[in-house]
Amino acid sequence: MKSFFIFLDEIVFSCNISCFPKFNSVIYKVPVSVLNQKTINKNITFKGIGLHSGLAVTMTIKPAEPNSGIIFKRIDIKKNNIIIPNIFNVSSAVFCTTISNETGTSVSTIEHLMGALYGLGIDNALVEIDNQEVPILDGSAKIFVEAISQTGIKNSNAPIKIVKIEKKIEFNDGNKTISIEPSKISLDIDFELKYENEMIGTQRNLVKVFESDLTDVYNSRTFCLFEDIEKLKDLGLAKGGNLDNAIVVKNNELLNENGLRNKKEFVNHKILDCMGDLYLAGYKIIGKLICSQGGHKLTNQLLRKVFQNDENFSLIEITEKHLPNTFINKSHLKSIA
Ligand SMILES: [Zn+2]
Repeated sequence: MKSFFIFLDEIVFSCNISCFPKFNSVIYKVPVSVLNQKTINKNITFKGIGLHSGLAVTMTIKPAEPNSGIIFKRIDIKKNNIIIPNIFNVSSAVFCTTISNETGTSVSTIEHLMGALYGLGIDNALVEIDNQEVPILDGSAKIFVEAISQTGIKNSNAPIKIVKIEKKIEFNDGNKTISIEPSKISLDIDFELKYENEMIGTQRNLVKVFESDLTDVYNSRTFCLFEDIEKLKDLGLAKGGNLDNAIVVKNNELLNENGLRNKKEFVNHKILDCMGDLYLAGYKIIGKLICSQGGHKLTNQLLRKVFQNDENFSLIEITEKHLPNTFINKSHLKSIA
């Protein structure tokens, strides 16, 4: 690993050719012991069914060593069973995010779990799973977040790494648009969805991932229109879908008895999906993302475009004790700290 250091005021910058092939990165050696990599305290097991496969699945999240990242392991398969949730390993982003390794072994619907891990600041974990799809549970990230919070989070001595967006990058597909641009310290997700269905209609929300209370985002469930259910089933999807794990909207009516969990549940769920898909960058991101009508595929296309060119981003490693306020304000980094 090649690196050199430049002193600038109190901050030590180093440039580093990291092991990630696309990363010709800058490391800002700025001081923060609290911003260290985290894992979970002990194993957590979830049992449920896959939303699309309908298959029964048991999944155990285990603590992992610093710098291992999030790793999926298909324990029902003996060989080549490791799958890394990386943007380049996304094999399908239609209706859910599926990742595959080079032998074609896959795990799908990873986005709600990844969103929970991202928001809670879990850098390292081994996710052992005995089937092809992450359990959908209640259709949101609520149960993942509650279980991880109850189990507790373990700090390490290893510094976190952050991807800082340096240039504005856009990706459009018809009326679907997404862009990400530099921001000083935060990850902002400004998301809009537009449905002809009046019950859903147009919803927009802005979430500051490291600062906002993410409860509504975590709790927001996946949704679909009643008239799309047959189409999804014809595509071999939504086999495990029911009113306990998805919101179903029929004309101006919600088929779920207890109504919505929050006023902007539809767009908040899209923000949860977006957070989960952004974590496939491998690190937390500092940038401002604006999306209209997007989804898994658009987020993946945007990230692929960002990482095509080393000038679009820097990889920042935070290693020392005190962060200069000029660069970053620790109190703003709730989910990291
Ligand atoms: Zn979702």
